[in-house]
Amino acid sequence: MRTFNCACGQILFFENTRCEACGRDVGWCPACRSISALEPAGEGRYTCANAHCGADLVKCSNFAVEGVCNRCVVTADGQPESESPLCDSCRYTETIPDLSVEGNRERWATLEAAKRRLFYALDLLGLPYGRKEDGFEPPLAFAFKGDVVPPEGLWRAMGEAERVYTGHADGQITINIREADDAAREQLRVDLEEAHRTLIGHFRHEIGHYYWDLLVRGQCDDAFRELFGDIDAPSYADALARHYEQGPPAGWRQNFVSAYATMHPWEDWAETFALYLDLTSVLDTANQLGIMKPIPFDDLAGMVDRYRRLGLVLNELNREMGLIDVVPEVITPAIQTKLGFVHDLVRRAAGRA
Ligand SMILES: [Zn+2]
Ligand SMILES: [Zn+2]
Ligand SMILES: [Zn+2]
Ligand SMILES: [Zn+2]
Repeated sequence: MRTFNCACGQILFFENTRCEACGRDVGWCPACRSISALEPAGEGRYTCANAHCGADLVKCSNFAVEGVCNRCVVTADGQPESESPLCDSCRYTETIPDLSVEGNRERWATLEAAKRRLFYALDLLGLPYGRKEDGFEPPLAFAFKGDVVPPEGLWRAMGEAERVYTGHADGQITINIREADDAAREQLRVDLEEAHRTLIGHFRHEIGHYYWDLLVRGQCDDAFRELFGDIDAPSYADALARHYEQGPPAGWRQNFVSAYATMHPWEDWAETFALYLDLTSVLDTANQLGIMKPIPFDDLAGMVDRYRRLGLVLNELNREMGLIDVVPEVITPAIQTKLGFVHDLVRRAAGRA
């Protein structure tokens, strides 16, 4: 992610809604793809203050009314399409948490912020996606849902019917809103012995399943099977049961990006896809901030090498502060081959191959 500038010169970040220096409202302008100052134009309308842009904008309804977004919508002929327009990111959220539950608005805001970062990365790579309303197949949608919690809040003792599973099915990405609680999520990370457990990581993993449906299924099944294995042998259910009984096979780090990736070819793909988004997002940020000589996104070997060297530095800086490693995985030749498969498919889908 890059940083941006307010009309007053102050540096702005991707999540900002207000300039700390001059107090202007700021938000995402889809016309110039920047966080920019919003000059009031009356009746809830704004003008993008970026000199080369000047687009007529209204705030996304989830920005103006709900306070969980910071994006704007370009108005056509000075009028928004509807009374309460939703932005390019919020339009994809089909189910929101129960806002009568304390803390759920904050959880929703945290989830939406991670989702906007995901969309930024997809757009950066030029990946296609779309909604049912746009006739896109498979249509992409998000559901942010909480468990139906028993009165004592003992979610561990809950029945299956009340539990919400984070996952992907037919284009719909469901995230259990408990993942937006730092303490609960960190507890799960420790319980499941994961190197990382983050909201953006969930989005990057689940969108990987979406792109399997979009880019692999029925298009390059044989090449996929050769690298990742047979999706039908064992079945997903059998693979899941085996994984939770026996754990990952010995020496898995040679071939898999995480222990979870060893479970089934679909999870291996999703974990590899998530690593690809980690890698491209981190490199884009490094490029934008001028930390290193910018690297183009066409040469995977160069990207992996740069990510490895950057990871070394970032991990040491984090260790200095007692934090977990930013880049926990070791990208072996086998993992790099799988990343190469993802890289080629992404570039082809974006028309950049
Ligand atoms: Zn300012
Ligand atoms: Zn603009
Ligand atoms: Zn929005
Ligand atoms: Zn998965």
